[in-house]
Amino acid sequence: MSASCQYTDFASMYDLEIKHAPDAGGHFGRFGGRFAAETLMQPLKEIEEAFFEAWNDDAFHAERLQLLENYVGRATPLYHAERLSREFGGAQIYLKREDLTHTGAHKINNTIGQGLLARRMGKKRVIAETGAGQHGVATATVAAMFGMECDIYMGREDMARQMPNVLRMRLLGANVIPVDSGTATLKDAVNEALRNWVASCENTFYIFGTAAGPHPYPLLVRQFHTVIGQEARAQILKQTGRLPDVAVACVGGGSNAMGLLHPFRDDASVRLVAVEAAGYGISTGKHAASLAAGKAGILHGNLTFLLEDEEGQVMGTHSISAGLDYPGVGPELAFMLEEGRLQLDAATDDEALEALQLLTRSEGIIPALESSHALAAGGRIAKTMDADQIVLINLSGRGDKDMDTVFKHLGWLENES
Ligand SMILES: *Cc1c(COP(=O)(O)O)cnc(C)c1O
Repeated sequence: MSASCQYTDFASMYDLEIKHAPDAGGHFGRFGGRFAAETLMQPLKEIEEAFFEAWNDDAFHAERLQLLENYVGRATPLYHAERLSREFGGAQIYLKREDLTHTGAHKINNTIGQGLLARRMGKKRVIAETGAGQHGVATATVAAMFGMECDIYMGREDMARQMPNVLRMRLLGANVIPVDSGTATLKDAVNEALRNWVASCENTFYIFGTAAGPHPYPLLVRQFHTVIGQEARAQILKQTGRLPDVAVACVGGGSNAMGLLHPFRDDASVRLVAVEAAGYGISTGKHAASLAAGKAGILHGNLTFLLEDEEGQVMGTHSISAGLDYPGVGPELAFMLEEGRLQLDAATDDEALEALQLLTRSEGIIPALESSHALAAGGRIAKTMDADQIVLINLSGRGDKDMDTVFKHLGWLENES
């Protein structure tokens, strides 16, 4: 059962062909596009050009893959969770261990890629938005490694809730700039970062954190994360001789989901499942399930499904996991859902908490709360299947960052959150 994932020729594992590209305007069917201020059209086009030029350059990939191997720690293992599989009782569960990457989540795959692109374009400063602080930390990490100036925009509300990550970014040499507009959370931080970028794009690269935003970001972010699914596909074939029956990932903006699922898109036998945060339950209105409960609209430069109130205002969202707490979703996932290629699922706060404890106790792996949503739904699906079938679940990150939240919910600390 313990097949190894050591590749003698690391780079040869990756397929660099861009499959299912958006059209020239960045549309995935009717979704996506580039809805941005006139002043951002030029910088976005420059990034698009630089991306395609870099993607066709072997030297770019040689450096990117070298960093992914030796700095990030790829390939991440694919682990057959036998005890967890028995707990759920049904299909065999395999976990893609993005929690074992440097910084503890998949986000670094993307910040390495965009950081290299920024350097290639001669930019000396990078900026980013962050909600929980995870993308901010991954950006500040790469900025430190490349010796770039780094400003992170973060809602003041989120800063108060995520102080350890704020301090971590400072330690890495980044400035964390508080955002007070709107609800002082993630969507406001994106708006503020875009506003700053208008004035600074001459020397500044905006490292966007998920597979959303204006074209070309959804494409860029997806391509930088496909290492996840490409490795998993090679690893499952090597370990079991077959493809999974189901592949499952949680969805905030969609970067870990596109990373895992995209390389299985042309495998018709593999069911692709996206798991959204149902918060207190979708019927309560307190959730972050943009695909399940959203309407088509424009947010942060692209047409997608988003959560709006009756007046068409973007709604406040709720999830126990800060990384899934986003009112929009990547346009390509919206497209794959409408096209019928993507199956939708959801997990509540309580279900995620339960799945976190189950994995921890049965396998000795403490997952992030975000990833626990994928575990909860993946386990539910596995239960309905046979023991010779396979469910592949993306373990997008480790749970260390969530311990305070978890302990409060379990009543092990004072201060109910
Ligand atoms: C940020 C984050 C997510 C959600 O973001 P996506 O872009 O939807 O992947 C999921 N898991 C972890 C561990 C995260 O840090």
